[in-house]
Amino acid sequence: MKKTKDIQKKLTYSRKNFWKEFSPEKEVAYALADDYKEFLDKCKTERECTDFYQTLLNKMGYAELSEGVKAKKYYRTSKAKNVAIAQKGKLPVSAGVNLIVSHIDAPRVDFKQSPLAEDSASGLGIIKTHYYGGVKKYQWMSTPLAIHGVIIRQDGSKVDVCIGEADDDPVFVMPDLLPHLARKVQYNEKLATAIKAEHMQIVFNSIPYIDSEDNDVKEAIKLNALVMLNEKYGICEEDFLSAELEIVPAGKARDAGLDRSMVLGYGQDDRICAFTSARAITDITDADFQKTAIVFLADKEEIGSEGNSGAKSAFIIDFIADLLAACGEKNDSVTLRKTLLNSQILSADVNAAINPNYPSVHEKQNAVHLGCGVGIAKFTGSGGKGGSNDANAEFNARVFKIFNEGEVCWQSGALGKVDEGGGGTIAKFMAEYGAEVIDCGPGVLGMHSLYELTSKADIYSSYKAYKVFFLKG
Ligand code: MN
Ligand code: MN
Repeated sequence: MKKTKDIQKKLTYSRKNFWKEFSPEKEVAYALADDYKEFLDKCKTERECTDFYQTLLNKMGYAELSEGVKAKKYYRTSKAKNVAIAQKGKLPVSAGVNLIVSHIDAPRVDFKQSPLAEDSASGLGIIKTHYYGGVKKYQWMSTPLAIHGVIIRQDGSKVDVCIGEADDDPVFVMPDLLPHLARKVQYNEKLATAIKAEHMQIVFNSIPYIDSEDNDVKEAIKLNALVMLNEKYGICEEDFLSAELEIVPAGKARDAGLDRSMVLGYGQDDRICAFTSARAITDITDADFQKTAIVFLADKEEIGSEGNSGAKSAFIIDFIADLLAACGEKNDSVTLRKTLLNSQILSADVNAAINPNYPSVHEKQNAVHLGCGVGIAKFTGSGGKGGSNDANAEFNARVFKIFNEGEVCWQSGALGKVDEGGGGTIAKFMAEYGAEVIDCGPGVLGMHSLYELTSKADIYSSYKAYKVFFLKG
């Protein structure tokens, strides 16, 4: 009997439950999650994440990477929406870097460029919107919302806007339809089309502008909104045309579950990886590791990594080239190419953990389970692995070995059943440089919803995995 058990233990793979097998680390995991929730509350947009890390890195003594600046710890921001953080290792940069890339944009709803309107049917001031990324539109109805973003005034000065987060702030809402009248326009439709983009307008204000001498002011409610905005921010309607204003769920991230073992909050895809990888690189010291460590926080992943702030842009390559120069190495195009070819990259993005309400879309044996550690996905994509970076077996095995040596709670897992759907990450864009790349991040329930659920075990295990990758990778 004992012999069979021994053989089983020796030969079979089973994922480990963090709470069972790593129980002495529970307190550290809970403490890290407290810092993480605070980060989620402060950073609901890519710009807020960038500001957060710029302030933090300055405080920690990181130097802004620019010509002639000699340091061991560097950072650089770009377009106020990207951050790169580096710590020089013992080996030359050209020996290859260990890079962890995640994204700091999240699905949301943006203001249209000309957003302000007065709805004649209801007599209310409204904001017209345009959603960003893969949102399920019905989730955004009848829930408290906040507005975050920037407006550039005509004199070039920038106004930071944040309404709906302080306890005494007003919030906003996209009112859903009452069930009594939903029979035709919603219930007869499919889920994906029952709420249309044009239904996602927020109610902005309701008091008209009052002129005691003129009883017939045109669009008086819209005018009153403009008057209030002008008083508060010194802006006029034209300033909206260039503004970036993002609508996000109002309120703070919370502990979830009776045992407080989970975190419920907005934007955890992929700020969970941004937070844990940034914490990992700032916790290591250069005496401990060989290869130069880099963390890259990118924008625009949710719309295909496009644009000059997305991972497809030249920003990170340019950063590595300048890092070579700053460390006294050649940075011609051949050296830069060889550096990238010698590099190892973790594409740190979330995976879909098994959802107890919808187990049928997952394949249990090959899915990520909440609370069983950081997930490693050899490939993503859809259909026959279409559009995926399929990591090489050699590198995949090396990552498992590093994690085992570092006593990381990890699991292997793919996103959903074959042909159930699918999705991509930054991995394939980073792989274009020839570096070894693999997807590595925690599982999430309700991904892309307003309130995503993660496990404190997996937040901590991701942090630990990223740190071990820098130290031993
Ligand atoms: Mn993601
Ligand atoms: Mn996503």
